[in-house]
Amino acid sequence: MKKNIALIPGDGIGPEIMAEAKKVLDAVARRFSHEFSYTQIIAGGCAIDQFQNPLPKKSLDDCLSSDAVLLASVGGPKWDSVDASIRPEKALLGLRSGLGTYANLRPAKIFPQLASSCPLKNEIVKDSIDILIVRELTGGIYFGKRGRSPDGKEAFDTEIYSDWEIERILKVGFESSLKRRKKLCLVDKANILESSRLWREIAKKMSPDYPDVELSFMYVDNAAMQLVRNPSQFDVIVTSNMFGDILSDEASQITGSIGMLPSASLGESGPALFEPIHGSAPDIAGKGCANPLAMILSCAMLLRYGFDMDEEADLIENSVEKILDEGYRTFDIAGLEADELRAKGKLVGTVQMGDLVVSQILDK
Ligand code: NAD
Repeated sequence: MKKNIALIPGDGIGPEIMAEAKKVLDAVARRFSHEFSYTQIIAGGCAIDQFQNPLPKKSLDDCLSSDAVLLASVGGPKWDSVDASIRPEKALLGLRSGLGTYANLRPAKIFPQLASSCPLKNEIVKDSIDILIVRELTGGIYFGKRGRSPDGKEAFDTEIYSDWEIERILKVGFESSLKRRKKLCLVDKANILESSRLWREIAKKMSPDYPDVELSFMYVDNAAMQLVRNPSQFDVIVTSNMFGDILSDEASQITGSIGMLPSASLGESGPALFEPIHGSAPDIAGKGCANPLAMILSCAMLLRYGFDMDEEADLIENSVEKILDEGYRTFDIAGLEADELRAKGKLVGTVQMGDLVVSQILDK
């Protein structure tokens, strides 16, 4: 299959981890006889330096004409004092609205090999934790009507959802479940909120179209508790913008490894956006020690959700697991064993970690 992928290396560790992601995509293309071509896109702080604009029009146009967009990370202290209207983060907002992405997919997985990084007790982590949070991204209370009373002593924000917005995000939830363990939990506050009751009604109406998916419902306060008490019970969680914002951060924290988590933002049509959840890590940029695995796992999401290449995505994910099984770690996931791993030659840098994944993919 021929595909063009827009690559946005961005700032900080971005270019270092993007180089490893590209190597991995090339290896997958070789193994499966695909033709991947790449368009290099400038966005973030580096675009401010060159064009005084974090997302030049040509950058967005090039993304829109690609088949998928892979973003590393943007921002850093160098641009902290630039005018708010051109801050690097504006590139992210511009990309998300330009690509029309309304569904944010954030997996939270504890790799058994890294279970010791999880802040939860061992007996809670003993069953595997592998959750996908599907968050509605362009509606709800963050976009509803808001205001203040004339005397400024009252304020309001509005949670508002239309049936079509709910239906399209639930569809992503159901279809993502089909690619996984076929369990979908709608998290809401239907005991209080009318908008949540509409979500439930629509979910129940759609459920017969997905007979293989087990649909359940949970109130958000309970879900926040269950994520730390018994996270293994969840497969896919689908929820509104604000609840998803909070729960996806909670879920990523229980994994304990920010350098391991990818994400996807999907739109109605057109290219989707794939990126690690971490930032540009300016404290370690240029040192060659950044963990490229979240970026590499974002490539797996790109292949699975962007191109429907499940086998290729599985191969990347299994290769990462094998490397971890063999004991290789970057410093951020080495924990207390860093010295021992260094002595054994298993404490590796960004490029070495990328090379290890490539070797697994090519089965060398
Ligand atoms: P961060 O995620 O960049 O870093 C937090 C901590 O995690 C740091 O100690 C960092 O060294 C470490 N870390 C992050 N990724 C790592 C990796 N792959 N390997 C090893 N260690 C890693 O968050 P921050 O420090 O709050 O933000 C730094 C900059 O990134 C800011 O300018 C922020 O605005 C930007 N940011 C960008 C994005 C994005 O591009 N999507 C997201 C979040 C933050």
